[in-house]
Amino acid sequence: MTVSRRSLLAAPLALAMAPARAARNRRVAVIGAGMAGLACARRLVAAGVETIVLEARARIGGRVLTDRRWPGQPVELGATWIHGVSGNPVTALAREAGARRVATSDEASVAYGPDGSAIDIDADVSRVGALIEEAREVAGGLDNDISLKDAIEALPRYRRLDERGRMLLAHAVNARYELDYAGDWSELSAWSLDEDSAFGGGDVLFPDGYDALPALLARGLDIRLGAVVEAVSRAGWGTRVRLAGGEAVGADHVVVTVPLGVLKTGGIAFEPELPAGHLEAIRRLGFGILEKTCLRFAKPFWPADVDWIEFVSGRRGEWTEWLSLARATGAAVLVGFHGGAQARVLGSLDDGAVVEAALDALRTMFGSNVPAPAGSIVTRWAADPFSRGAYSFNAVGSDGAMRRALAEPVDGRLFLAGEATSAEYFATTHGAYLSGLAAAEAILAA
Ligand SMILES: Cc1cc2nc3c(=O)[nH]c(=O)nc-3n(C[C@H](O)[C@H](O)[C@H](O)COP(=O)(O)OP(=O)(O)OC[C@H]3O[C@@H](n4cnc5c(N)ncnc54)[C@H](O)[C@@H]3O)c2cc1C
Repeated sequence: MTVSRRSLLAAPLALAMAPARAARNRRVAVIGAGMAGLACARRLVAAGVETIVLEARARIGGRVLTDRRWPGQPVELGATWIHGVSGNPVTALAREAGARRVATSDEASVAYGPDGSAIDIDADVSRVGALIEEAREVAGGLDNDISLKDAIEALPRYRRLDERGRMLLAHAVNARYELDYAGDWSELSAWSLDEDSAFGGGDVLFPDGYDALPALLARGLDIRLGAVVEAVSRAGWGTRVRLAGGEAVGADHVVVTVPLGVLKTGGIAFEPELPAGHLEAIRRLGFGILEKTCLRFAKPFWPADVDWIEFVSGRRGEWTEWLSLARATGAAVLVGFHGGAQARVLGSLDDGAVVEAALDALRTMFGSNVPAPAGSIVTRWAADPFSRGAYSFNAVGSDGAMRRALAEPVDGRLFLAGEATSAEYFATTHGAYLSGLAAAEAILAA
């Protein structure tokens, strides 16, 4: 990608009136130790700028979170893949970290119908897929953006679909859009939901843990864990960051990389208030939910030569996609994904009930002998006060221009970064990483 230079242009204007100080004599506070914050701090420190990273949690990594409670079987509770390895800056980081990578393939998949029998859904799904394209084309000709759901339901061809056609369509919408973009079809913009860009070259995951990357980025940085930021004020020529407990940290510039979900819920107060363009972006962009149910078994009872198991359950969005780690890493681990409305439904259940529902789905597909798992982990990103969801999506009425507005420097002192500020690569680790670098470059250029 070409990193947006927009922020680089805006910063010097605002700073033109400030006393000139070489970047290396300035002090920067970076809020958040995820991919964006760590990338930003690493770049600034390499340029000789005094930088402190303030992280609310007791760990670094943010939405890159490798769980190691199962000996020899690390499981990713946040990001799993480098999406598109060719030319991806995260691939370069993985090389630098010496982190092993293994490819997975969407083609290595098997599908089952509502009664558990194996089905070949490729042809059916591409047939209903054409209907989705048609719906978006029609919506593109309207004066106002509408949701993917409204666009599809308005089509006469949709209304003529039989029960099986509607079930397949719901499956295709869920697998293609609701899980990828973490938004419900009633929230996703028919105009701009997939206006992001992608690197080519397929996807890889990290058999030894994605956390090798934040660990690499964090090397040698001054990071304060357990530092919950409550307020950021722009005062005089500098900034003041107020932590829970009342302590204040002063800096010339502050870079805020907290998730959009935290900004939406007012997790950080800005004094004075952010400009209108930033506020509009925060309000209108979507922040979605994607939750995982990870189950560990003694040995696979499913086809161990596939990466993906698809379940056309007949109930919208329920247990539709399962990742098997058996082929990629040799672990007898299945990961079920839920996005959008269905993720909210599961979020209201306790872990035991979620695992029971998962086993019901697995027993439909693989028979009543499916054993209870030896271990289970249910993620709760939506309930986490330091993420409030999984990642951003283009909700009805929002687009990349709002993401660029969010990345505009404020008074040359306050910079926002993080995946939600990336118009090209939102919802990814590389989008977050590049946004952090862009904020650092903007500060260095100021
Ligand atoms: C379930 C799931 C699956 C995903 N799968 C993939 C994938 O396969 N591939 C991919 O490329 N991307 C994936 N992503 C997206 C990717 O993880 C994110 O886009 C990326 O990690 C975001 O990085 P960030 O630095 O923008 O934000 P974060 O990683 O969220 O970092 C922000 C940091 O700010 C901290 N913070 C929050 N509030 C405060 C506060 N008040 N004070 C101080 N600190 C605060 C947080 O604790 C956090 O550490 C996935 C995400 C999720 C949740």
